[in-house]
Amino acid sequence: MTARIHNFNPGPAALPLTVLEETSEAMLDFKGSGMSIAEVSHRSTVFEEVVHHSVSRVKRLLNLSEDYKVLFLQGGASLQFSMVPMNLIPQGMAADYINTGTWATKAIKEAEILGKPYTVIASSEDRNFSYIPEDYHVSTGAAYLHYTSNNTIKGTQWNSTPMAGKVPLISDMSSDIFSRPFVPAPFGLIYAGAQKNLGPAGVTLVIIREDMLERSPKNIPTMLRYSTHAEKNSLYNTPPCISIFMVSLVLKWIEETIGGLEAMERRNRQKATMLYDYMDKSDFYVGTADKNSRSMMNLTFRLKSEELEKKFIAESAKNSLGGLKGHRSVGGCRASIYNAIEPESVKALIDFMKEFARKNG
Ligand SMILES: *Cc1c(COP(=O)(O)O)cnc(C)c1O
Repeated sequence: MTARIHNFNPGPAALPLTVLEETSEAMLDFKGSGMSIAEVSHRSTVFEEVVHHSVSRVKRLLNLSEDYKVLFLQGGASLQFSMVPMNLIPQGMAADYINTGTWATKAIKEAEILGKPYTVIASSEDRNFSYIPEDYHVSTGAAYLHYTSNNTIKGTQWNSTPMAGKVPLISDMSSDIFSRPFVPAPFGLIYAGAQKNLGPAGVTLVIIREDMLERSPKNIPTMLRYSTHAEKNSLYNTPPCISIFMVSLVLKWIEETIGGLEAMERRNRQKATMLYDYMDKSDFYVGTADKNSRSMMNLTFRLKSEELEKKFIAESAKNSLGGLKGHRSVGGCRASIYNAIEPESVKALIDFMKEFARKNG
C-alpha cells in the first residue's frame, strides 16, 4: 500500500484506518456470507443486523430516549434542507431560521422555494459570517428553530445549543455530529450527511422525535416523508448498503476505540487548541473566525497574500498534507480536523506551518 497522507479534506474526509481495513475485507467476503457487502441483499439478516446495530449505537452514544427514531436516508444533507420544511411546517405555522453561513443560507432558500412561511431571526452575514449570533428571539409558537451547529465553510461553531424554549430545535450537524456530547431533549430533528464525521458519502443520518413524524401534510411524495422511512426502519427501498456498513464501523470505532463522546470531545479539543494556539502566536497566519465562535472541526485562516496562500497549498501537498485549500467561495486556507484526524496529523501540519513561515516570513 502507498503511504497515507495527512488528509485535511473538508468532505468526503479522512476515515479511521481500521474502518478502511474492515471495509476492504467486507468488499470480498461480508461476514462469511460468501458475498461482498456490495452484493448482499438489503433484506438479508446479516444486513438488517448492520442497520439494527448502527441504530443502537447512535442511541447509546447520544443517550437518546425512546421517542427518537434513527434513520439512514439518501439525498445528502442538501435534501434535508427541503424535507424539513416540507414535512415539519404544517398549515398555519411558520419556522424560524438562524443564518450563519453558506449551508444555513441554502436551507433557508428551500423553505422559500416551497413557499413556506419563515423568519430569519438572526444572521451573521453583516460580518461575512465570521461569528455566531448571540442576540435572537425565537418566535412564540414557531414550527421549529433551524440552525447549523458547525459552519464548515466559514469555520465557526455554536459552543452550546441555542435556547428555544418550547420550540423544537432542528440542527444541521453534518460537520460536527459525534464530535462532542449534547443534551438531545430540545431537538425535534437532527440531520447529518455522513461524509464529514461519520463515514463515506451516500447516506444521511436523520434523528427525529416521534411527535414530529405526525406533522407531515398528506400530499408529500412517499420517498420524501419521514414516516415512510421510520415505519420501515430505513429499509423502505434499497438503501446505500456499503455507506451504511461503513457508518456502522465508524460508530463502533467511536464507541469502542475512542470510548464515547466525552473522550471524543477531549481529543478534538486538544487537536484544535494545538492549532489555534500556534496560529495565535504567529503573525504569519491569521484566523478568519471570531475567537469565541471558532470551530473545533474546520479551522479557517489566511496568509498575507493570495500568492502566498497558493504557495502554501502547493508546498503542503508536496509534504503529504492534503485538502488545505479554503472553500472556493471564500478562498484562503482551511484545515478540517474531523473526528478521524489523528493528533499526529495536526502536529505534522503545525511543523509544516512553522517551517513555511520561517522560509517565507
Ligand atoms: C457538507 C455540508 C452540507 C451538504 O451536504 P451534502 O451531503 O453534500 O448535501 C450541508 N451542511 C453542512 C453543515 C455541511 O458541512
